[in-house]
Amino acid sequence: METKTPIEGDNAAVEQYDGLVLMSGGLDSILTYLLLRKQGLKLLGVHYYSPFFGAPQKAEMWKNLLGIEAICVDTSDKMIKRLYKPHRGFGKTLNPCVDCKINMITQTKAIMDKYGAKFVATGEVLGQRPMSQHMAALNNIKADTGMEGKLLRPLSAKLLEETDAERSGLVDREQLLSLQGRGRKGQMALVEQFKVPEEVIESPAGGCRLTDETNATRYAQLLTVKGDADATDFRLCNFARHYWKGEHWVVIGRNEHDNDQLLLSAAPTDYTMRLETLMGPIALLRPIHSADEAPEIIAEAAQHMASFSKHARDATGPVRVSVTHGEKTEVIEVTVERRDDWLVPIWATAKAWKVAKAEEGKQERWAEKREARWAKKRAKWAEQEQ
Ligand code: SF4
Repeated sequence: METKTPIEGDNAAVEQYDGLVLMSGGLDSILTYLLLRKQGLKLLGVHYYSPFFGAPQKAEMWKNLLGIEAICVDTSDKMIKRLYKPHRGFGKTLNPCVDCKINMITQTKAIMDKYGAKFVATGEVLGQRPMSQHMAALNNIKADTGMEGKLLRPLSAKLLEETDAERSGLVDREQLLSLQGRGRKGQMALVEQFKVPEEVIESPAGGCRLTDETNATRYAQLLTVKGDADATDFRLCNFARHYWKGEHWVVIGRNEHDNDQLLLSAAPTDYTMRLETLMGPIALLRPIHSADEAPEIIAEAAQHMASFSKHARDATGPVRVSVTHGEKTEVIEVTVERRDDWLVPIWATAKAWKVAKAEEGKQERWAEKREARWAKKRAKWAEQEQ
């Protein structure tokens, strides 16, 4: 029987749960859910997705194979805001892990009452990741989300402060674990114990594209050029070939799958291009700062696209390219030319952007903290004067 994964916001009657479990889809989050469920707790998984991570389609597999109940929540806009304004820096590539966790925990905190949940659990393991899972980071995340006493990390709980759910007896601390570090022995023992099927272990939710240099470079290019990039822009970065000339962006399919995806991704304001009578890739030219592109930019993008077709390269003379923009399709004639003024974004530029952005974010965060401290002092003085 086909099951449907609920999307947060569905208006079904709201069932109540003991706790919510953040489900990245990685093994640790799955084991966390199973470890708590073994105590007889009623749990709802919350799986966040965005152009950068997540795979809502996997939630159905978790349900069918392990009986995990989960809702899927789109966190694209919030993640994009974090990338424009990272407050706690980036990891090795463009992964703002601490901000990302704060974002997801804050979003989950906001739905705790709705689901009657007394705690939020995560699959974090003390010392497993250098940026976001050392003791200070775990404590900062707890403090910055206002989740003191409510944030449970069952895999490392015995090494951490007791939570309200443990103190009240809702969660039995004795049955929680003290895993630490990067080793996987403890997790593998749990895999055995809970009989987690291979397909779940081998199929994490696709990893995080922000940690991949190729994707991260494309995202950084977009963030640099476009001040209001949205989820559709970032999704477009996840496949095909990308070329930029200043503020002009063309994406060219590498295979049939890319070509289909490009056609599906095309917005009414995009220009889609294809060779009229010859086999070759689809290209999508996405205007950034104006609704229209100049004819010379369209022609250059078409020349570049045509250069990826063997048939076009073998042709003698110009080729015909059909260009669709909104309702209008026109055919232009161009020479076949690999344009070396349309550039592939490079990591060195992305890295420089990332370093500058992280510093800007740090200053902003300090300024916010200073302002918050002053606001507290002002409130205290006002109270004393009364
Ligand atoms: S790796 Fe990606 S999904 Fe995971 S915490 Fe970092 S930014 Fe978020």
